[in-house]
Amino acid sequence: MWGWDAAAVREAALDALAVLLPVECAGCGAEDRGLCSSCRASLVPEVSSRLVGEGLRVWSGLEYDGVVREVVLALKRDGRVDAARALAPALAAAVVAAAPEPDGIDVVAVPATRRAYRRRGYDPVRLLVGRAGLRELRVFSAARPHAAQKTLGVSARDANLRGAFRLRRAVAGRRILIIDDVVTSGATLREVARALREGGADVVGAAVVASTPKRFAPVVE
Ligand SMILES: [Zn+2]
Repeated sequence: MWGWDAAAVREAALDALAVLLPVECAGCGAEDRGLCSSCRASLVPEVSSRLVGEGLRVWSGLEYDGVVREVVLALKRDGRVDAARALAPALAAAVVAAAPEPDGIDVVAVPATRRAYRRRGYDPVRLLVGRAGLRELRVFSAARPHAAQKTLGVSARDANLRGAFRLRRAVAGRRILIIDDVVTSGATLREVARALREGGADVVGAAVVASTPKRFAPVVE
């Protein structure tokens, strides 16, 4: 038997298309470049980390602000799948910081809802995982539909996500690093970690492209 991952192929096709079409800089809108040199310089990783829950530390490659925010939104909101390549080094740097000895650690991406996937036709986090050279262990079903987190306060964010992530395969005994694109309140990562730990996994931490440490900036779900 042989086959292929239809979603991955579609993502690859969209990416190739983005290279062929005239594009604007995903960071500042300058014409003819996927990402201009000035914006590219803003994406050089500077890893930081913070605790977002009990025993849950998240490492981020960048601060979610300015050009970084524009490029993330280009990927998540504007269909700019080519932006994943520009953001991947930040994720990779965060992963290296989070797991300096990667042996025996599995990478698990925060799953999208079916609705979000259908709307975009691709999964931004999964694209980032691939571009960062990581191989994801798929342990979750599609996320249960939930209200947009950006409209909610901190405690409501946790309640909104309760039970959103369902395991579809056993994770007992595995050491897992969680991957997401942006951490805001940390509610998503907390709930994913809770589901994994409930399944018997050892969650070693989380790694994301960018973090909003000082305030809640709107993040596209
Ligand atoms: Zn630019």
